[in-house]
Amino acid sequence: MRLLATAGILLLSLASSAQKKTPSVKPPLVSAITEADLKKDLFAMADDHFRGREAGTLDELRVSAWWADQMKAAGLKPAGDDGTWFQFFTMKRNRVSRASTLGISGRSLALWTDVLVAQTAPASISAPVVYAGTATKTELDALDLKGKAVAVQVSADQINMNISLPARRYPGFVQRKYAQDLLARGAVAIIFIADATGEASWSQVVPAMSRGSYNIEGEPGATVATRAPVLWVHGALGESLRSGATLNATIQVESFDYPSVNIVGRVEGTDRALKSEYVLFSSHQDHDGVRQPYGTDSIYNGADDNGTVSVALLAAARAFHKQPGRRSALFVWHGAEERGLLGSKWFSAHPTVRKESIVAVLNGDMIGRNNADSAALLGMQAPHRNSSDLVRMALEANNEGPRFRLDTLWDKPEHVEGWYFRSDHLPYARAGIPALMYTTLLHPDYHTPMDEAAAIDIRKLRRMTEWMYRTGWKVANAEKRPAADPGFKLER
Ligand SMILES: [Zn+2]
Repeated sequence: MRLLATAGILLLSLASSAQKKTPSVKPPLVSAITEADLKKDLFAMADDHFRGREAGTLDELRVSAWWADQMKAAGLKPAGDDGTWFQFFTMKRNRVSRASTLGISGRSLALWTDVLVAQTAPASISAPVVYAGTATKTELDALDLKGKAVAVQVSADQINMNISLPARRYPGFVQRKYAQDLLARGAVAIIFIADATGEASWSQVVPAMSRGSYNIEGEPGATVATRAPVLWVHGALGESLRSGATLNATIQVESFDYPSVNIVGRVEGTDRALKSEYVLFSSHQDHDGVRQPYGTDSIYNGADDNGTVSVALLAAARAFHKQPGRRSALFVWHGAEERGLLGSKWFSAHPTVRKESIVAVLNGDMIGRNNADSAALLGMQAPHRNSSDLVRMALEANNEGPRFRLDTLWDKPEHVEGWYFRSDHLPYARAGIPALMYTTLLHPDYHTPMDEAAAIDIRKLRRMTEWMYRTGWKVANAEKRPAADPGFKLER
């Protein structure tokens, strides 16, 4: 009897699998994602113990090694280089050397105290100074700037200061406002004379400016080239630049190589054909390290940025491990995102799986703050949308689960923050891979020591995790991979 019954069941199941062309897809295992897990992982990762996880420091390496242990415990398999959890890459750091000398009319200026060097490029220059002051474009036409250093009294007019971290970003906006025009007129150096806004931002910009610039091989800026120096002096020095001044500057740049690392794990898919394809979940484990204090705190723990998404990926990995999809799932925590998306630039150019096998990238950056019911999906609208299929899946996933009210303004090319261009999905989108960014947007604690785990809305974080996971589950099980839209072209 038992034998017969077994044979009967076998026949039945054979018959049913022959009838059905597509296996039925299980519902996503949303119950595997819990607030308790997310909270525990977040508080551990964003603890002072890891000293803000700055890329290129032992702190980033230490959190990465610890993170690999968490991935192993979550049931992931290593998918980095040579069967390890890691993909190391070399960051190129260039910085203005303390040996640089700068002076005006024989008076020497102390680097970072009397003068800021706003770009990391070597220069050796001795040139007369032309005082342009607050000259308009037409008034500039009357001045001969060729071969001269031009001194400009800057102003915040026409600069939108209603942005995140305005003090730290002011020099960049000033440079964008003035520099091209002045250099086109033949100036060989620019001296910006600080206005009140510049004076207020001075101490805020020194930590990043003096650190220098970071790149990876093959990226512009990895090797330093001589460029016209762009300097800042205090307003009080403006008077001395009015007539007959000379600028003498020997700017030396020193270069360093530092290791950074991507951490990579996978859960293998169940479908014999489709498991060689991957849905890639993306976060970054680095943050800004130890910097200028706010009050008494100088450790930038980056709980929202990007502790939230890092622990979301781990939760999604646990869910995939308990219930794998048809396609495989790849989980990448990128290093050195804060230094210019370096880990994702490296991985997208040197993926540890075949590039063509990555069917979608679901990246997140900061998913645990602001209004409990709102969120944003960047890459949802033209010109940022590179896969209508993938956008449709993400919107369905939102409707079937968390039902966030979606912001649409931050995904527009005219939005002042340019948020789409500031996280790890970007290099993948540029490489033609369908890619999205999940975010709950900026807040006043962004890139300050106040971005702490205690300020995270854990309930919202769970719902955002559910949304990313539900999207990934759809992608992993869909009959056809999401198609890339033809003619995708970003505005910059
Ligand atoms: Zn971030």
